[in-house]
Amino acid sequence: MDAGLDALLKRRLALLGEARRLRRLRPLQWCDGQLHDAAGRALIDASSNDYLGLSQHPLVKARAAEWAGRHGAGAPASRLITGTRDITLAVEERLAAFKHCEAALLFSSGFQANASVIPTLAGADNGGTLIFSDALNHASIVHGCRLAGVTTHVFGHGDAGHLDDLLRQHATHKGRKLIITESVFSMDGDRADLPALLQLAERHGAALYVDEAHASGVLGPQGRGLAVACGGAIDVVMGTLGKAFGAFGAYVAGSRTLIDYLVNRCPGFIYTTALPPAVLGAVDAALDLVPGMERERQRLAQNAQRLRAALALRNYDTLGSSTQIIPAVIGSEEDALAAAQQLEDAGVLAVAIRPPTVPEGTSRLRLTLSSALSEADMQRLLDAVANSLPLRPPRPA
Ligand SMILES: *Cc1c(COP(=O)(O)O)cnc(C)c1O
Repeated sequence: MDAGLDALLKRRLALLGEARRLRRLRPLQWCDGQLHDAAGRALIDASSNDYLGLSQHPLVKARAAEWAGRHGAGAPASRLITGTRDITLAVEERLAAFKHCEAALLFSSGFQANASVIPTLAGADNGGTLIFSDALNHASIVHGCRLAGVTTHVFGHGDAGHLDDLLRQHATHKGRKLIITESVFSMDGDRADLPALLQLAERHGAALYVDEAHASGVLGPQGRGLAVACGGAIDVVMGTLGKAFGAFGAYVAGSRTLIDYLVNRCPGFIYTTALPPAVLGAVDAALDLVPGMERERQRLAQNAQRLRAALALRNYDTLGSSTQIIPAVIGSEEDALAAAQQLEDAGVLAVAIRPPTVPEGTSRLRLTLSSALSEADMQRLLDAVANSLPLRPPRPA
């Protein structure tokens, strides 16, 4: 063992500790339809991304078990070797139809998809691509842009004017241009103006890549996400299956040509084991359920509105949130941790999100809701916000 490596890592960890940024894994239990801490105390879960409660849905769990029983616990190889089955292709076809796209391709995770698909696309014209990326894009997108090894221009969050300026500045660029955004932003809970971005993409001859991790299942007609409203004009639609779908994995949807290219050229697809049958079964069941969950989506939106109103009464800035993701901006890391603790003492788990996940000085609680939250739990959550969250100074009008 290299003592030098361990010594270096120890010093690095000590520095994180001094900066109060040392993270530790915390075990939580899920039993009898309820989250519990290590001491067995029940907590209302306001931090997970299981927006429709599908990870606990009987049909989803049953089909995961059924497909594992029928097809095995694991896929035996990568997709191009022996890892492609009828069920794999069938789920991909269903995902493509769900997103109103020609074709779709499964990935092991959203991180892997973004980190691998972006470099693959940027590399298609031998490094001549310019990337234009929203300032609040997810770490996996930032990673993908770095790995692409091409110039990435970061435009102000949601700022189509800034993006337009940047595209104009590079109007004479000979290579391709790729604009990347999330449709619902993971930490602010606001929405991208996809029609505006699409218009810019068309005007400047750029391709548009949209990450629908937090929109798929929750927003748009029948929960198909926000990209479908653009009528198939978005070049690359990426989504994840571990959030509202309650399962695991991710997909990229788009033209048949895009998918064929990724099958041939994307390392994060080629050099990894296929998703296991249990995951495919869970996704298949979620695809049965999601389109019909309009009542759940309405409830989710209404509860999000109630929570934003409760936070506003305590003078919290919820940024541009218009979705099931509701930030309560606090500022310093210490204060955010203290507020999370106060909510937890009141029985609500709302994890503090700190830099580098969010910009310096914008540490916050990131509250997320699920349509599976009972009205009694929702009321307890609102009571905890009203009675246990510190009152903020009034915000300037
Ligand atoms: C969660 C998330 C991912 C990563 O997806 P995983 O399947 O969890 O790896 C990618 N993009 C966004 C916007 C996300 O929120």
